[in-house]
Parts: sequence; C-alpha cells; structure tokens
Amino acid sequence: MPADHEHRRAQTLLDQITTRDEGVSSGDERWLAGHLAGCTVCSEYAEVSRRTVRALDSFAFDLDPEAALRVQMAVRGRAVELGSGGRVFAVAVPVAAVLTLLGSIAAWVIIAWMAGQWKWPSPAWQIAFTVLWLLPSILLDAVIVFRKNWMDEEEGS
Ligand SMILES: [Zn+2]
Repeated sequence: MPADHEHRRAQTLLDQITTRDEGVSSGDERWLAGHLAGCTVCSEYAEVSRRTVRALDSFAFDLDPEAALRVQMAVRGRAVELGSGGRVFAVAVPVAAVLTLLGSIAAWVIIAWMAGQWKWPSPAWQIAFTVLWLLPSILLDAVIVFRKNWMDEEEGS
C-alpha cells in the first residue's frame, strides 16, 4: 500500500499533466506510471481528470457563440437583479419612502412655523418648500425605484 505522500505526489503530477501548464520530467512520468499501475485510488483520479478535461474540451467546441452570448446575458441579467438588491431592494424602497414622508412632514412643520414667525408670503414659501425639499427627495426615490428598469432597458438594447 503506497504512502499518503506518494498519492499526493502522483495527483500533483496528474494535475500538472492535465492542466498542461507545466510539463513533467521523464523521471516523474516513469515514477507516475509505476505508481498508477499499483494504485487504484490514483488511477481512478487520473481517469476522472482525463474525463473532466475531455468533457470541458468538447463543451467548449459544442458551444456556439450565440448560445454562449445568451448564457452570458442571462447570467449578467441575474447578477444585475441580485446586485440591485432583491430582498434588500424590496425593503429599502418603502423605508426610503417613509423616511422621505416623515422628513418632509417634519420640515414642513418647521418651515410653516418659521413662515409664521417671519411673515413669509403664504404661497411663496410653500412653492419654495416643494421645489427645494420635496422635489429632490421624490426624484431621489424615483431614481432608486426605477434604476432597475433603466438598467434592464440598457441591457436589452
Ligand atoms: Zn496513489
């Protein structure tokens, strides 16, 4: 029964041969052949490596460029979906809306009080409030909400 370090050496050599990154010396090759002849574990490992490499090679050949592109698009689309939040997104939008609403009410109360104190003309400060406070908040929320749709449209075009 070969020792553990021999299995490790054999499997490392097999990896080097199958990945074709590095060559192995003829001495190593001879040693490996000898080890594989007497070791079922490593011959099975060698067989699996060979089959995996062959499967990957044929997979790469069978895949037509259009199918590859479709897969890539699908994966990227899914990544965009996940990237823009999924569950987090579903929670973030209502939270943002509620914070905007509460912030606006609080700001409105404060500004209404100030308007009363300094006798600002009534429609003027209300319009100013709408433009300077409410509009940016609503636009920001709209950007967060519709960003996903815009990204999807860009993806499709
Ligand atoms: Zn072995």
